[in-house]
Amino acid sequence: MESKETRGILIATRNRGKMAELASLLASAPFQLLSLDDAGVEDEAPETGATFKENARIKAEEYARLSGMLTLADDSGLEVDALGGEPGVMSARYAGDDASDADRIAFLLGKLEGAPDEALSARFRCVIAVARPGESAELRGGTCEGRIARSPRGAGGFGYDPIFLLPALGRTMAELSPEEKNQLSHRGIAARRTAELLRTL
Ligand code: IMP
Repeated sequence: MESKETRGILIATRNRGKMAELASLLASAPFQLLSLDDAGVEDEAPETGATFKENARIKAEEYARLSGMLTLADDSGLEVDALGGEPGVMSARYAGDDASDADRIAFLLGKLEGAPDEALSARFRCVIAVARPGESAELRGGTCEGRIARSPRGAGGFGYDPIFLLPALGRTMAELSPEEKNQLSHRGIAARRTAELLRTL
């Protein structure tokens, strides 16, 4: 049997919601998961890419270099069709650096005032990159299609979950249990693909 204690993998995020989801999603991978704090990494990798893929790659390769460890980084966000794909890679900073999740939701809903219902289609995207120090990262992705709800509902998840409606379920992402969210979320899909990759390393 493989031991989870033998090898560590750095999970390069400071977002607690993401860390909790990734820890649960990667629980079956044969690695001990370490956070940036566990690994004593204080520097910030730049998020200067124009795409989720570029940002995930930059973060995984840079944190692998800084830590000397096998490193996993994700980049993710929301694309709203009525806004031409915004907020996209700007999802975390959409309403300014010091804004809260509630501020970002209010800002996004404000931008959508007057948009017709049929333009409220949206998707979450996630790209996960895994890199060894000095090597180029391997990427895995996942997408989850939905619609923007006109007002927030639910207390689960994080970020834009309260306004991300899953039409087939009639519930927002924030109204799902963590297990239900992991089953169908962009991060769940990308993480299961990544877990397969990790089993081959
Ligand atoms: P980044 O990947 O750290 O650049 O941040 C992505 C941002 O996209 C998060 O801070 C959230 O605002 C949003 N986001 C990404 N994944 C989710 C999700 O699963 N639910 C809700 N919002 C998300």
